[in-house]
Amino acid sequence: MNTPHQQTFSFELFPPKTSEGMDKLKTAVKRLNAVGPRYFSCTYGAGGSTRARTFATVDWLRAQGIATAPHLACIGSEKDEIRDIVGHYIEHGIDRLVALRGDMPSGMGRAGLGTFRYANELVAFLREEYGDRFTIEVAAYPEFHPQARNAQADLENFKRKVEAGADTAITQYFYSAEAYFWFVEECQRMGIEVPIIPGVMPISNYAQLARFSDACGAEIPRWIRKRLEGYGDDTASIRSFGHEVVLELCQRLLDGDAPGLHFYTMNQSAPTLKLWRELGLPETRPQAQS
Ligand code: FAD
Repeated sequence: MNTPHQQTFSFELFPPKTSEGMDKLKTAVKRLNAVGPRYFSCTYGAGGSTRARTFATVDWLRAQGIATAPHLACIGSEKDEIRDIVGHYIEHGIDRLVALRGDMPSGMGRAGLGTFRYANELVAFLREEYGDRFTIEVAAYPEFHPQARNAQADLENFKRKVEAGADTAITQYFYSAEAYFWFVEECQRMGIEVPIIPGVMPISNYAQLARFSDACGAEIPRWIRKRLEGYGDDTASIRSFGHEVVLELCQRLLDGDAPGLHFYTMNQSAPTLKLWRELGLPETRPQAQS
């Protein structure tokens, strides 16, 4: 097994829509930062739909001295817009980006797609323009991307992103450890050597989870879905069962040499911190905070 020092543990946030949401995010970040994650990432809406809010979140994190990896989704953007965004991040001392294609809102014609069609083109552009200035993360899909022609084509497309210059990958969330291990093994057979870090979605709200999963193609196994459905409005039972399921998943992933974990925190600290502590993950010195 890897030693904890070789593993990367990170937290994902989304940019809040309201000042109340921002206050909640700040409280959650202070609690989460206390265990010393490698970095926080922050999502970005394709076509620039969250640009101002993502900047506000990333700038606040940087002002606290916290290592931050903004997500950058390229679909719907022209090169100059990407240069502009990256310029902002350089000014704020960012050295890690999560490079994505993103999803266009339905109903947009081809004309609105922008310069880049796929994430590999964004990665290639970032390497051409900025050399090795950034650590570049890309997305990976152990259960395969919903638009992929087939599993093999998705793996080849993933390889293309890595060959374009990605340093590491974060997966879509999943609840089947086998899907992850099969994916990693196949990648190794194809000569893909970057760390593939499992994305972990804690379970605390079934309706929200079911909605996300339907949209992004992440499978909630039937036995989990049925149990969660059965709890109805009993939030305590949903959280308790969800915690046990995700704890066991994380433990299996770490026992199987996963190179770290990336938690989709949903801007909440409690579910992720409970997992962190029960997994016995290292609590290192928090990053600087003013
Ligand atoms: P790509 O790697 O471009 O793949 C998209 C699809 O096209 C796949 O089916 C792939 O097989 C296929 N494909 C890829 N390259 C080619 C090619 N050259 N020719 C033909 N087909 C190809 N979305 C956001 O909008 N904002 C975010 O902040 C965000 N963060 C995310 C973070 C993580 C860790 C993950 C896993 C996803 C995130 N997403 C985000 C969702 C993501 O943008 C969507 O899943 C999107 O549909 C695909 O993005 P991608 O970067 O994986 O695309």
